[in-house]
Amino acid sequence: MTAPTYPPRTSARRELVARIPRAAAESNGNGQSPVPTSAYFGINTFGQRQMRDKLPKDVAKKLAASIRLGKKLDLEIAPVVAQTIKEWAISRGVTHFTHWFQPQTGLTAEKHDAFLSFDDNKRPMEKFTASQLIQSEPDASSFPSGGLRATWEARGYTAWNPASPVFIVESGDTRTLCIPSVFIGYNGEALDEMTPLLRSSDVLSEKAIALLELLGDTGVQRVYTTLGAEQEYFLIDRGHFAQRPDLVMAGRSLVGAPPPRGQQLEDHYFGGIPERIQACISEVEHELYKLGVPIVTRHNEVAPSQFEMAPVFEETDIAVDHNQMVMATLRKVALRHDLQAILHEKPFAGINGSGKHCNWSLSIAADNPELDGTNLLKPGKTPHQNLRFLVFLAAILKGVHKHSGLLRAGIASSGNEHRLGANEAPPAIISIFMGSTLTQVIESIAAGKASTNATQAMIKLGVARLPEIEKDNTDRNRTSPFAFTGNKFEFRAVGSSASIAFPIVLLNAAVAEALEELTEQIRSNMKRGKSVDDVVLSVVQEAFKETASIRFEGNNYSEDWVKEAAKRGLPNLRRSPEALEQLTTKQSRALLTKLGVFNKAELDSRFHVRMERYVKDMLIEMHTLKEMVDTLVLPAAFTYANSLVTAASHAKSAGVKTIPQIAAANEIGGMIEDLREGRDTLQKVIEQAEGMHDDLPKQAKLLTTAGADAMAEVRGCSDALELKIADELWPLPKYREMLFPV
Ligand code: ADP
Ligand code: MG
Repeated sequence: MTAPTYPPRTSARRELVARIPRAAAESNGNGQSPVPTSAYFGINTFGQRQMRDKLPKDVAKKLAASIRLGKKLDLEIAPVVAQTIKEWAISRGVTHFTHWFQPQTGLTAEKHDAFLSFDDNKRPMEKFTASQLIQSEPDASSFPSGGLRATWEARGYTAWNPASPVFIVESGDTRTLCIPSVFIGYNGEALDEMTPLLRSSDVLSEKAIALLELLGDTGVQRVYTTLGAEQEYFLIDRGHFAQRPDLVMAGRSLVGAPPPRGQQLEDHYFGGIPERIQACISEVEHELYKLGVPIVTRHNEVAPSQFEMAPVFEETDIAVDHNQMVMATLRKVALRHDLQAILHEKPFAGINGSGKHCNWSLSIAADNPELDGTNLLKPGKTPHQNLRFLVFLAAILKGVHKHSGLLRAGIASSGNEHRLGANEAPPAIISIFMGSTLTQVIESIAAGKASTNATQAMIKLGVARLPEIEKDNTDRNRTSPFAFTGNKFEFRAVGSSASIAFPIVLLNAAVAEALEELTEQIRSNMKRGKSVDDVVLSVVQEAFKETASIRFEGNNYSEDWVKEAAKRGLPNLRRSPEALEQLTTKQSRALLTKLGVFNKAELDSRFHVRMERYVKDMLIEMHTLKEMVDTLVLPAAFTYANSLVTAASHAKSAGVKTIPQIAAANEIGGMIEDLREGRDTLQKVIEQAEGMHDDLPKQAKLLTTAGADAMAEVRGCSDALELKIADELWPLPKYREMLFPV
């Protein structure tokens, strides 16, 4: 008789668990800086401070003015600016420069060029011209263009957005000057995320100024949006990550049984940050400070191994660039600590996913110091200021009410699909939370209870007292996808890995249109001879009435809300493909083309790129899952089944009467059969989807229904096996190991 083969007592997975460093001592601890943050904040950006210190006074002034007003760089000053930036960069060890831009991949792109050049005598020298600063022509043919490529013949150019300071990226000893840029086709088509954002900011500013002028707030130069993005992310051990093909390929776990302890003890949120994690986060912050990114908060999030960081808010285009730097720095620095930053919206089933709460408001830039810096979403001291606050609020209610489907489209992705509507994150139904005090004000006005004299109404309603009340108001309703939080809105439904730009473009556009409508209404009512403020109040009243259905103060996670929202006629677009369809409705198209944010081809391209991305993401996940089942889960299950069968046969030959291994082997056998069946269905859906070539909406529809179902079925079978198979045979790091490093 041959000797029985027993399973190994140890496995690569178990060794890995034993080897995981516990404390920062085992990582390099570079994050510790002995100097105060203020001493090095922004040293790697050519921002306001460097401009003032290094540029001639008149040049600095012109540059600052064009930045402030969102204008293009004055060509006259460009050579001096380029020369100064070059000298500054070289003094900091920079050898190359790149236009840094945001194609529609959700990430950033760069192609480096050396400063190195040769003079007439072939002597090497460093060269960086004004035109190199201002414009560049990358070969753009491999970026997603969603059909725009046919019309712009594969080439595009990048142009510096001077509002966003150039910065130096350090990678080991290599230092590269990055020039934040827009990316456009030869006929001006927007090929990137930033161009539409700048357009939407301009048009929002224009519409807001028109309304302000009507209200008597004249001399406003620009109304700009501000944004503070709270970034959620996971940090797990790099070794675990590397052993999970699903995390490596898709950024999320496609199998994995939930551990007995997830987040139910509610002990992780705001808990102490483990030392090893803290070392990593500190180093991330240190790198970001050098880049001038004002990160000011850090804390543990709800799920185990989940964290959040947030900056001080900034003007939106800067905030968008800075958030890209935050995500890139997190990914880069984590590796130095043998950690992996995971930015996916739903890396682990059964515990919270990650979002990017976008705090958004509107502010005034004006020569008039009384107005300059005014946050339009903050109730003021005088009745006039409060009426102004209410009319801007009305515009936001109107915009979100009319275009809630479009806003849902702006946050649609395969990743966010797992988060929205799950019992933890804002639902796929867009509604607005206002808080009880403001709700009372809104409802009084809507019901016509407020005096028709605007001044008296404002005093009586006590709008001026709102900021204090809001501050004390701890009931912040964390379940709302779009919540008013005292002096800003918090758009919580944005996904953690997404670029902020697109959702904010759509929000800006929706609000710009509403501002225009309100302005027109006020104008036409004024002809009837009432005072401006009284007319404004009546228009606000109408707006509050017509948008009542978008306001919801209750629990957005409840089943009742789903029913109630349906009764109110609010769209509930649970799957990404149906949400994305909202980009091409008549209403969305009319909004975005009328305002000049997108032309029709550009908008179609957004739809196409996002649909294509969805289909690709789904297919990558499905292929990965199939491969994991075939090469990891099934082999482990077979080995285990085999060990039971061998043991049973030995027991039988030894004359043992009770042989429980037989029942166990049969049970495992049945589970393996189920898994194999699910895996075959998965395979069929993949083949069917891939056979549909180029019909994206049809592919997306199949993948979001049959595809998602097949993945769920396979996962269910695999997770059941994980809980049965001998631990030492299981080839994948388990949830408890990834999420609760001991
Ligand atoms: P929370 O309780 O949600 O953490 P915070 O007051 O800490 O609220 O703000 C969260 C984010 O909102 C921060 O990034 C902050 O800078 C930003 N924020 C505050 N005011 C504004 C504003 N006017 N516009 C945009 N973002 C803002
Ligand atoms: Mg918040």
